[in-house]
Amino acid sequence: MNYRQARWVEPLIFELSKPGRVGWASPEKPRERINVPKELLREKLELPELSEPEVVRHYTRLSQMNYGVDSGFYPLGSCTMKYNPKVCEELAALETASCIHPHQAEETVQGALELMYRLERCLAEVAGVARVSLQPSAGAHGEFVAMLLTRAYHKSKRDDKRNQVIVPDSAHGTNPASAAMAGYEVVTVPSNARGRVDLKALKAAVSERSAALMLTNPNTLGLFEDQIINIAGVVHDAGGLLFYDGANLNGILGKTRPGDMDFDIVHFNLHKTFSTPHGGGGPGAGPVGVQKELEKFLPVPLVEYNEKRGRYSLDYDRPHSIGKIKGFYGNFGVFVKAYAYLLLMGAEGLNEVTDAAVLNANYIMRKLLRVEGYELKFDASGPCKHEVVFSAEPLKRETDIWAHFVAKRLLDFGMHAPTYYFPPIVPEALMIEPTESESKEELDRFVDALKTIAEEAKSDPDRVRSAPTATAIGRLDEVKASRQPILSWRAYRKSAKE
Ligand SMILES: *Cc1c(COP(=O)(O)O)cnc(C)c1O
Repeated sequence: MNYRQARWVEPLIFELSKPGRVGWASPEKPRERINVPKELLREKLELPELSEPEVVRHYTRLSQMNYGVDSGFYPLGSCTMKYNPKVCEELAALETASCIHPHQAEETVQGALELMYRLERCLAEVAGVARVSLQPSAGAHGEFVAMLLTRAYHKSKRDDKRNQVIVPDSAHGTNPASAAMAGYEVVTVPSNARGRVDLKALKAAVSERSAALMLTNPNTLGLFEDQIINIAGVVHDAGGLLFYDGANLNGILGKTRPGDMDFDIVHFNLHKTFSTPHGGGGPGAGPVGVQKELEKFLPVPLVEYNEKRGRYSLDYDRPHSIGKIKGFYGNFGVFVKAYAYLLLMGAEGLNEVTDAAVLNANYIMRKLLRVEGYELKFDASGPCKHEVVFSAEPLKRETDIWAHFVAKRLLDFGMHAPTYYFPPIVPEALMIEPTESESKEELDRFVDALKTIAEEAKSDPDRVRSAPTATAIGRLDEVKASRQPILSWRAYRKSAKE
């Protein structure tokens, strides 16, 4: 069954259970008896009882109810939901990558250490920084580590007055959160009419209390901060550092580098730009790169190579390090995928990623500008980078349909919604990031769908307001879901009984 036609709710596997039904036959005499300590044994193990085909069908149906980049278009702005080559998954699943243990002796994992060392060199080259720590496990974690590095840097200069971090009003929500988590006061600077950092406002915001500016470029509106060298000058002259939110590198790969824009610290989202699927709750990685003067503060350990001995090793002997920020060395499987992807693409390929990602976003921008109901809030005279933020305000003004309903109705067209109501500086925002992996036909289909929805908003608004109707699950009670989350089958059973 196809999720586009079906509308059903799959029962929980426990509801399918029939006492006494089995899906496998155990050998008569177990070959080995494992003596589990009595206190660890459970009296009764409540497992569902089903036949093998019932189990297979149940999980296959569940997988079809899900939506992902492997099922269709997923233009979730700022999240870079792009196609990830399956060969990278295969390499990460190899025994030599997935069955090694972090407690293994260094001599037995030279290959893994070499991979980490080389990945670090590649990322440093891509971002134009001196060194990279692979440890942080997500983008927000990388930002937080960047803030700890900022603190260590100022402390080493005996400069303890700096307690503020400047963040533009278009920034990703994790930026102010990371700064606040690290103990900084967040100072917001507004964007100007061009959707860029307002230099005047920035000059007014910096002082001897500024520890850093957190910025992403292209910014969250998908626009390139063309004043970046002046911005960097203002912050550096005031003694602050520049942090680059590099979650989405699709807009600049091979074209320019945060280091060349004078940034001091960068984080990467390997699970956005470098071939690890994300959004499914699996592990990610948010490596952090720094310029030479911040290198000594990086978390321990770093992978070093001894040329004479031809050996890789983990270096813990780093007295200025901010310490350990993650168990062991980071999420190794993600490193394998990222390294495989970098080798697969090569410098030339990475360049083309950006060409295609930017071309696709501009194609959508130009086409959607001609559709009634949607508009740009900032100057659209120049090109956007890898994403574009439209506003559905004209639609809301003329009909009963808002961005929220547009997003829900898109699901009926078999497409994931763009990010909506973000960034908050754009009213009725629809933040569209097509990525490089979509064809022209798919982009046309998407713009056509948005056009159809704008027409329906006038001719058949109830249809739009009641969407989605073609998905496995319809409109959810989002308030109830967040107030009374039921996250396990035990909780579900309990709530069903009540
Ligand atoms: C996704 C994203 C982050 C946060 O990354 P996580 O891995 O989700 O923590 C930070 N900044 C920007 C611009 C992002 O798009």
